[in-house]
Amino acid sequence: KRIESVNVHEVLERVADLLLLEFPVGLTFLRDYDISAPPVQGDRERLTQVFLNIARNAAEATAGLRQEGRAVITFKTRIARDVLTGGERVRSVLQVDIVDNGPGIPEEIREKIFYPLVTGRAEGTGLGLSIVKNFVEESNGRVSVESEPGCTDFTVVLPFGASGQ
Ligand code: ADP
Ligand code: MG
Repeated sequence: KRIESVNVHEVLERVADLLLLEFPVGLTFLRDYDISAPPVQGDRERLTQVFLNIARNAAEATAGLRQEGRAVITFKTRIARDVLTGGERVRSVLQVDIVDNGPGIPEEIREKIFYPLVTGRAEGTGLGLSIVKNFVEESNGRVSVESEPGCTDFTVVLPFGASGQ
């Protein structure tokens, strides 16, 4: 594990490129970036894996929409404030949202998708999101999700380096 300055927008663009090779038909990526945001601190390869796992799930979940040519994944970035335990410390973070227009996370697994081996798919391993949680937390970040039919939004927050505080 390395700690380096990571340009998350470059990482997100790489993830979109990779997934368009994997899902060439019917999937559109939209961007809503705050390009003024400074780099975050973390391991570039692991953060790439984080966003790839989340966005690949989104692409897989939108299979029906892809067939109709209207699957959409949106990458959003914002500078946000994150209140740490007890509320006595507030830090500046990069908030990344990965939003898809798919059917939503099945209700029976919604509470436990970040645990290993929890899958809603016949051919799934249930490992993708447990890796996401581990890698985000080792970068001192946090991951959460809000999901309903037609909109699933994974939120990852990552701390900036000293210069970005
Ligand atoms: P796997 O992809 O191997 O099943 P993951 O940990 O990556 O394991 O995901 C766990 C489960 O969470 C998936 O099987 C799927 O049911 C659900 N899920 C994750 N992301 C989404 C999404 N964007 N839309 C709908 N369901 C999702
Ligand atoms: Mg997965």
